[in-house]
Amino acid sequence: MGVGEGGRAPTALIWRSGQRLSYDFGPEHPLKPIRVELTVTLIEACGLTGPGQALTLPPEPFGDDDVTRLHTPGYVDAVRRQSRQPDRAGDLRFGLGLGDNPVFAGMHEASLEVCGASVAAARAVWEGAVAHAFSPAGGLHHAMPDRASGFCIYNDPAFAIDWLLRHGARRVGYVDVDTHHGDGVQALFYDDPRVLTVSLHESGRYLFPGTGFADEVGAGDARGTSLNVALPPMTSGEVWLEAFEAVVPPALDAFGPDVLVTQLGCDTHATDPLAHLALVTDDYERIASRLHALAHTHAGGRWVATGGGGYQIASVVPRAWTIYFAELSGQSLPDEVPWGWLREAEEAVGQRPPAVFHDGPVRMAPERVASVRRDARAAVESLKREAFGLLDRLS
Ligand SMILES: [Zn+2]
Repeated sequence: MGVGEGGRAPTALIWRSGQRLSYDFGPEHPLKPIRVELTVTLIEACGLTGPGQALTLPPEPFGDDDVTRLHTPGYVDAVRRQSRQPDRAGDLRFGLGLGDNPVFAGMHEASLEVCGASVAAARAVWEGAVAHAFSPAGGLHHAMPDRASGFCIYNDPAFAIDWLLRHGARRVGYVDVDTHHGDGVQALFYDDPRVLTVSLHESGRYLFPGTGFADEVGAGDARGTSLNVALPPMTSGEVWLEAFEAVVPPALDAFGPDVLVTQLGCDTHATDPLAHLALVTDDYERIASRLHALAHTHAGGRWVATGGGGYQIASVVPRAWTIYFAELSGQSLPDEVPWGWLREAEEAVGQRPPAVFHDGPVRMAPERVASVRRDARAAVESLKREAFGLLDRLS
């Protein structure tokens, strides 16, 4: 929704100007804060946040009372202790200090700030300040009620959903396009019939966190509100989008959410070092446009978006999320990435990112494409078999 589109409010980018992200596991860790900072500077360099184009809103305060709404007091205490006095051994009972989630000074406050950003996005959209909002630091979808997991301490997308439910949303649709299963968000709302979680990801047979299969459909009254498409390695954008079209529009249609929350991880990229899907930036443009249309058709135009995974910190993440932000804010991008930003990125990471937004297609042998398509279709069919009847019953 851009300025003037239907006379509605513009879009918000949730960021404190000049902010340095303190959510930082250290120089050896793949989730580097610079990837979010470079995203914001690229969005700005493309002129997408000028006056009358998009608002920049700061994260809102988010404290200890807020975080224990979804995380157990024992876990939050452990994070707070490690945050004050980090011990390299961590606290393994709570997933802290393992290779994925090393402890660092200030980690409690840094994680709260990410939650405050995604909650600010939810509030801005729900209260009507804007139609769509993007929290690029957010998307920490693996955090569990009682433990850290997969680089995620506190589950900010779940807090955005929880905020919406407490402020009048009757149903929230959550669509997770990260290459990893959105297991934490699924777990937090597994028995809550007010939240539909849909995750398209590389199959847990090949990738962390090892879950996200078709038979995980939700529990109790919420059976049918947890949908999982486990895609084979090397899934290309074309096959990915076929699976998306087969699942997401009918699911949102049957569920009827008041608001759409999306996790926009871009670790589905063909060059991502941590996973094996084969999407390119051109695909993100199509996914963004479909999510935008679906927000308008099925969720009253309300769209709360977060970042997520993506470990090509300069060559992919900033371009991917700038493409999403252009769609969120109804603006178009030139194909050329601004030269000044390319230099800035090169100085920051020692490598120059691609100079255009569109990667162009990945070449793959036709037999490979055919076998990937067969496996992807089978994943969609088993999801439909397990869950669609249950979901229809809810509508
Ligand atoms: Zn991921």
